[in-house]
Amino acid sequence: MSTIFSKIIAKEIPAEIVWEDDEILAFKDVNPQAPVHILIIPKIEIPTANDLDESHDKLMGKMIRMASSIAKNEGIAESGYRLIINCNQEGGQSVYHIHIHLIGGKQLLWP
Ligand code: AMP
Repeated sequence: MSTIFSKIIAKEIPAEIVWEDDEILAFKDVNPQAPVHILIIPKIEIPTANDLDESHDKLMGKMIRMASSIAKNEGIAESGYRLIINCNQEGGQSVYHIHIHLIGGKQLLWP
């Protein structure tokens, strides 16, 4: 099932893209929870973390590496940041296209 992120990948709706290659797209969250809030998504449709299989290992590793690279570009690598993948309802997932939230730029509370 396609989501709004498929439309962002297809450039059918606008987003503030900060990084892109043939496999991955990173763009600013429209409802930021911190001064830096960027979503890193695969261009293939994987609905949730429950849908990951061995074929996605390399892609997911690259997404984490790109998140850390973007954190450096955003100037928050040294101060610190959080990477989050929400899964399903109780995990707080609202868009069913797997994504990593890169959040930082302020002291984050837990949980
Ligand atoms: P989650 O709740 O983990 O599924 O995260 C989905 C995120 O997507 C939320 O933080 C939303 O603010 C964000 N979001 C939804 N629509 C858009 C959009 N068109 N552009 C950028 N971010 C979006």
